[in-house]
Amino acid sequence: MATKYIIVTGGVTSSLGKGIICASLGRLLVARGLRVTIQKLDPYINVDPGTMNPYEHGEVYVTDDGAETDLDLGHYERFLDIKTSQENNVTTGRIYYDVIMKERRGAFLGKTVQVIPHITDEIKSHVIKLGSSEDYDVVLVEVGGTVGDIESLPYIEAMRQLKYEVGRENTLSIHLTLVPYLAAAGELKTKPTQHSVKTLSESGLTPDILVCRSEYELDGTIRRKIAQFCNVAVEDVIASLDADSIYEVPLLMQKEGLDLRVIDKLGLPAKNADLKRWKEFVEKIKFPKKELEIALVGKYVEHHDAYKSIVEALIHGGAVNDTKVNIRWVQSEELNEQNVKNELADVSGVLVAPGFGDRGVEGKFLAVKYARENKIPFFGICLGMQCAVIEFARNVMGVENANSTEFDEDTPYPIIDLMPDQRDIEDKGGTMRLGKYECKIEKDSFAMDAYKEELIEERHRHRFEVNNELRSDLVESGMVLSGINPERDLVEIAEVKDHPWFVGVQFHPELRSTVYDPHPLFVSFVKASQDHSVSHIETEEQVAE
Ligand code: GLN
Repeated sequence: MATKYIIVTGGVTSSLGKGIICASLGRLLVARGLRVTIQKLDPYINVDPGTMNPYEHGEVYVTDDGAETDLDLGHYERFLDIKTSQENNVTTGRIYYDVIMKERRGAFLGKTVQVIPHITDEIKSHVIKLGSSEDYDVVLVEVGGTVGDIESLPYIEAMRQLKYEVGRENTLSIHLTLVPYLAAAGELKTKPTQHSVKTLSESGLTPDILVCRSEYELDGTIRRKIAQFCNVAVEDVIASLDADSIYEVPLLMQKEGLDLRVIDKLGLPAKNADLKRWKEFVEKIKFPKKELEIALVGKYVEHHDAYKSIVEALIHGGAVNDTKVNIRWVQSEELNEQNVKNELADVSGVLVAPGFGDRGVEGKFLAVKYARENKIPFFGICLGMQCAVIEFARNVMGVENANSTEFDEDTPYPIIDLMPDQRDIEDKGGTMRLGKYECKIEKDSFAMDAYKEELIEERHRHRFEVNNELRSDLVESGMVLSGINPERDLVEIAEVKDHPWFVGVQFHPELRSTVYDPHPLFVSFVKASQDHSVSHIETEEQVAE
């Protein structure tokens, strides 16, 4: 069977949740035995989001092969239980960069290089490359941005051409729009959808299916109206109502028959959908037996998308423990000696987040110290782990000025430092320690209890490391370096003993947690937090007695 391409565009407004709709449709097709991947086409000029501020872009999602990508790829991996790679995220910056490099090499043989055909050809080649790998029956192509944007035009044009290149019978166009409710008129309005479809059609792409985001149920009259004005069958008007959890969306889309319409139109050989495990997961997060609160200490806490994968991994880890994890967002910049107790005393666990630069870092040290001394389960991720090591050096080993050279270049005790291979790097984009690396786990550690495996692989995104020249001091003072990268002998996991659960990891475990494969460290952390909250309540009761 030829690979089928499903092109997903969005109209009316941004933030309609195109990524979740793609991931949900992907999950439904995987549940029917099809091999699916999703590609995101991003219309910005950055070569990748790696250089962008989390306020601009949210989390940078890192793949096994070390690509710094859009956070939607995280949804694709979590929903489909697949691995993505650099090829799953294409940006205008990368397209132009490659075309210009080719031009410099003389690859265009003296021709004038133009948006059409050279840029559009380059876009198509990325889509077709993924589809021709023989690994997939279906490639979902999510076109970023909103239809009508100037910067999206080359993508829409490339998708129009793609239809003819791979055969119209092998492509399908889905358009996601908004059907707003106008309180003054007391009704749902279809005009924005009509306009959006018109704009899309003018660019040569006519939608086969419309997915309509709405706060209210679309009744038959509205559906017929949309169908009539937008040139689709009534069954191809799919309502996407707001859901409490993104994980409910695949089930809502199945109810609306989205997968069946797609299968029918593309002639896909599909089995009955097996969504048993998915439904069990949704049941668990909708009706949890217990609840607890975990503090997430970071400097981007007003912008939850900056910690997207951590939030999702806590949901996965919570579900395994039949527990809903509520997050207390703690701004590290505002933490001080006076308020730290107030902020953290009653949480069940403390997670210190990844980050760059020294803003808010002293607050992170205080959070680590409070969790360590008060025996609250602690999870430090990347910068969070580095903070835990610095705090240990300062307050357990008594080296007052211990620091990372990221925050103090002249620190007398650089317990966190750049590796020699990072010292002379000047370019910012794609030059960190990125992607998948092996890690060997020591016996008798929190990490081994969680992983139950000696050799694991995790994804990285950082420049600084625990300083190998000083690392024996940590061990002598009782810190357990329970995970080591065998190839380069780098510290990947640091733990504190005589504590219910204290784990810092140099890598990003959150990037590998999926619905069907929740990350063992998150499962263990939530379990330890749950045990802590129980013992905490017991102690309080004893005090009251
Ligand atoms: N800023 C630190 C480093 O570059 C940590 C990075 C992170 O938390 N992702 O090593």
